[in-house]
Amino acid sequence: MSRVSSIDIGSIKVTSLLDGELVLPAEVLLNLKDEDAQTIRDNNENKLSSSNINAYLIQNGERNLLVDAGCRELFGPTCGFIKDALAEAGVSTQQVTDVFLTHLHPDHIAGTLNTDGTAVFNNAQLHLVDIEHDFWIKENFDAVEVNGADWENLAQAVVTAYKDRLNLLSQGKEIMPGVNTVAIPGHTPGHSGFRVDSGNDSLMHLGDIIHLQNLQLIDPNVSTVFDIDYDTALLSRKRVLDMVSTDKNLCTSGHWLSPKFGHIERHGQGFAVSSK
Ligand SMILES: [Zn+2]
Repeated sequence: MSRVSSIDIGSIKVTSLLDGELVLPAEVLLNLKDEDAQTIRDNNENKLSSSNINAYLIQNGERNLLVDAGCRELFGPTCGFIKDALAEAGVSTQQVTDVFLTHLHPDHIAGTLNTDGTAVFNNAQLHLVDIEHDFWIKENFDAVEVNGADWENLAQAVVTAYKDRLNLLSQGKEIMPGVNTVAIPGHTPGHSGFRVDSGNDSLMHLGDIIHLQNLQLIDPNVSTVFDIDYDTALLSRKRVLDMVSTDKNLCTSGHWLSPKFGHIERHGQGFAVSSK
């Protein structure tokens, strides 16, 4: 199976990298309809709670920017294939010049480290949004729901492994020419998407506002227990979906299913991926 899908945004090449696929249990979902909860409980291969873990390779001239890095072995045998996906895209770990992490949850950051805690991407600068870095690095970390000490330790291990080549940036700033962060607070304090702009083309990455495309587009009130600030995350989800459907942006995101690039349009009380 192929783990990559590429698109040209002007002169910038964007490739989605499939780290893995998984099905989320009903226990981590909030505001589910009873019948959907039952479907998910009855069938652990159901499509409603199917999710992908994606990373992205963005190539502009000499730069190979990796956005997120998958979950390594942490989420079981169906995930952790970021190196295979990169190889399929024709880029070695040593050719990655830049890494940007949309937020410091394990499914986005574990793949930056070998199991011994050393850096995988030895030649890359690591770019993090300052408030995301500060949230996880503070000494009096206050565990929120599932965002406990294990997750904090992993985030700190990543920052330690890349400390000599860490670039902290504020929201909305350029990661590399044509690629800027987009603030989408709530899931985590510094949770980000990104925009790619080149020529007349653009692409919006929506971060983790959607974990389960088949549930949360139809009903954006469906949430997961992974959101650190539930209310802000819900507002962000609705605001961003509203914006990209109004502006007709080409979209993708951290847990988007295939096909990896598409438009979102209003559909009933919620949204749908456009087939156009
Ligand atoms: Zn995620």
